[in-house]
Amino acid sequence: MLKKQKIYALAAFIALQVIAFAGAAGADKIKIVTSLPDLASIAQEIGGDYVTTFSIAKGYQDPHFVDPKPSYMIRLQKADIFIQVGLDLEIGWIPPLLEGARNGAILPGGKGYIDASVGIPLLEVPTGEPSKLRAEGDIHIYGNPHYWLDPLRGKMIAENIHNGLIRLQPENEAQFRSNLDIFNQKIDALTQNLQDKISDYAGTKVIAFHNSWPYFDERFHFDLVGFIEPKPGIPPSPKHLVSVINHMKQNDIRIIIISPYFSKKSAQLIASKTSAVLIELASSVGAQAEIKSYFDLFEYNINKLIEGIKQAGIIKKNNK
Ligand SMILES: [Zn+2]
Repeated sequence: MLKKQKIYALAAFIALQVIAFAGAAGADKIKIVTSLPDLASIAQEIGGDYVTTFSIAKGYQDPHFVDPKPSYMIRLQKADIFIQVGLDLEIGWIPPLLEGARNGAILPGGKGYIDASVGIPLLEVPTGEPSKLRAEGDIHIYGNPHYWLDPLRGKMIAENIHNGLIRLQPENEAQFRSNLDIFNQKIDALTQNLQDKISDYAGTKVIAFHNSWPYFDERFHFDLVGFIEPKPGIPPSPKHLVSVINHMKQNDIRIIIISPYFSKKSAQLIASKTSAVLIELASSVGAQAEIKSYFDLFEYNINKLIEGIKQAGIIKKNNK
């Protein structure tokens, strides 16, 4: 055999080995791409060993504004399932990615498309015309889209993902069902545990930078009374900051919550004028290295919140 032929033969052999290895390592698995890491975490719980998951947004990014990089199109092109929050949360970055991916199966109506919001009771659904609200700069035009921050709504997300998985692989229904049952049990226990933990501080008044927290507030019973943004997506004017400061002073509001991706400048200014405590909560899995799962997200946020409440000198109810 000529030297050149030998090299070709070797190259072909290596290529075959690589293909065989790739097959063994997961070519049969359902490839799930999600917009947010929270959806990927839930999908991994329900899909178990039958799926691989990839989230386009990282947990430390603002879910309203993500850079639609071409590498994400390739991910979507190869995906079997795509899951998004919906309600226009991803309007600025998912549509161009889906268009570039040219994968009909994962488009709305396709076998591999999952809208996580199906059947979820929404808060703050506006009565105004959505297009008019958007023109005014509002980015929550179909209702508040941050519903994954309620663990019990997380169970409904899981159900939607479970239904999508069965549509694709009906032969594995029993396994997906069993994973869903385990997920639901874990969520119920966690929610109860965290509700008990924070119950002494129920009704604590809180100001948030962006309106990401009504579902979290509803589940854990603090009291979200205002926002630094005058409208979701609109940065505060100096006049608005003054009104927030006055409101906080008059109502003895001592907690401000903010997500890692917002500039802390205005929140710090308000905190300095009111001696409130500024707490950075995680809006998504991966916002901090230690938040590795959807379960960790709530554990982390409740602990942070309690720590901040204590720091603000707010007294436990049963100590009064
Ligand atoms: Zn928002």
